[in-house]
Amino acid sequence: MLRWVCVLVLVFVTACAHPKPYKPAKKGPGKDFGGVYHVIEKGQTLWRISRAYGVDLETVQWVNDIDDVTSIPIGKKLFIPGAKKVLKVVPYRPGEVDPLVASPTINFLWPLKVPISSGFGPRRNKNHHGVDLPAPNGSKFVASAGGRVAYSGQGMKGYGKVIVLKHTGELSTVYAHNSTNLVRMGDRVVKGQVIGRVGKTGWATGPHVHFEIRKRGVAQNALNYLR
Ligand SMILES: [Zn+2]
Repeated sequence: MLRWVCVLVLVFVTACAHPKPYKPAKKGPGKDFGGVYHVIEKGQTLWRISRAYGVDLETVQWVNDIDDVTSIPIGKKLFIPGAKKVLKVVPYRPGEVDPLVASPTINFLWPLKVPISSGFGPRRNKNHHGVDLPAPNGSKFVASAGGRVAYSGQGMKGYGKVIVLKHTGELSTVYAHNSTNLVRMGDRVVKGQVIGRVGKTGWATGPHVHFEIRKRGVAQNALNYLR
């Protein structure tokens, strides 16, 4: 009898000392649609991973809620939507040019498909930092690329109601003089999503979107980025 009690106690103690491995409940995008989790190894950039799987970089970024693509920790589990199995990704070698670091490969959309009324560069003794896209008051315009709303309000002098979106590769886009901003700070937006309505708030003589593409905060000629 005592022997059996000892055995039982031993079994109990063993069970307590070796609990079953804890499995977290499956959360995130994986439960909604197919895909695999790729664990990031040294030298695997988001660009390389997306290219290896044939998945759009911005989609991977969006699904995984990544703000800064240039600093993703090794060991992070990245959800790859639509992938059937985990693939080998050739790591980045020093000296090699990675497009994501060298020149971001975002294909920007026109926020409005209209002829520009004023281009980038010197204008009336000042520098015009964007391109002007005229359209009737209240017309909808879209996000030029996917990203996060870094600013939505009217705190930028002369810009009226303005939206600033933050994208991959230290790029941002600016949409000014709006009659209505349809997104709020912190929102995630996808490329082509309607984000506001045309107006002439701020320093504007007629309704238009003043559109800027900035790199590290410095205005670029948007025409070099638009498709
Ligand atoms: Zn302008």
